[in-house]
Amino acid sequence: MKDSNDGTVLLGAHMSIAGGVHTAIERAVRIGCTALQMFVKNNNQWKGKALSDEDVATYKDALSKARIGPVVVHDTYLINLCASDRSILRKSRDALTDELQRCEKLGVDYLNFHPGAHMGRGEKEGIERIAESLNMIHTRTKGFRVKSVIESTAGQGTALGYKFEQLKDMIDLVDEQERMAVCIDTCHIFAAGYDIVSEEGYHRTFREFDDIIGLDRLVAFHVNDSKRELGSRVDRHEHVGKGKIGLEGFRLIMNDERFVNIPKILETPKSDDMHEDVENMAVLKGLIGT
Ligand code: MN
Ligand code: MN
Ligand code: ZN
Repeated sequence: MKDSNDGTVLLGAHMSIAGGVHTAIERAVRIGCTALQMFVKNNNQWKGKALSDEDVATYKDALSKARIGPVVVHDTYLINLCASDRSILRKSRDALTDELQRCEKLGVDYLNFHPGAHMGRGEKEGIERIAESLNMIHTRTKGFRVKSVIESTAGQGTALGYKFEQLKDMIDLVDEQERMAVCIDTCHIFAAGYDIVSEEGYHRTFREFDDIIGLDRLVAFHVNDSKRELGSRVDRHEHVGKGKIGLEGFRLIMNDERFVNIPKILETPKSDDMHEDVENMAVLKGLIGT
């Protein structure tokens, strides 16, 4: 079910890779996910242990037996593609290059990353530096098929990418534009001020996205509710239906035919037994057709 979809919703959650990358697939399968996001290394360290041939083979074998759509990898939280500190900028570029290489080895479809925080140097300079980083990284990874997916942000602090125009400007400055895609995090765009709750607001938001970026670039959703209100610019995830987005916003997304083939991934707090993911997925599926 990699390239075609029989109409089954592509729904899943971010999964731990504790025990190896293949365990993320096992966890996803255990709770009935049809979409999956994972890290490809420890998410709070610059460098990770290399993936062995056996790691790759075990992962590919597990995936081939699973009914999971496109796999999304999330980058590590340390990376800032527009860091003003030269050493952090260099480490960030090296780290994202390494992550693309890991994804390519595993055959991962999408590497989702946060664009970066300008730390006071200004939005324009930040956007230019992010594009410069991506160009450098793409040059080092010529011909890769894994897509570079910019995640929309809540705009907390000096984080860039909270306006569709900023995402467009970044993509426009990237040389290999066919490698670029976008992930919408519902919590983030809502906190950034995009109404997705009222029917009118929802349609306006996606019309704007289509006009500015183009819906053909949209390859993934993070389906998180938001603890904080519209336009708060605060990034706090909440379980589906329990936050300020509420069931109505998710009902619109889950029933939007344009998004049937786009993986929808939860990034909400969870315990080891993952019962929260099970509940959130049931809530989302329950909205279909209502
Ligand atoms: Mn993210
Ligand atoms: Mn997210
Ligand atoms: Zn978030």
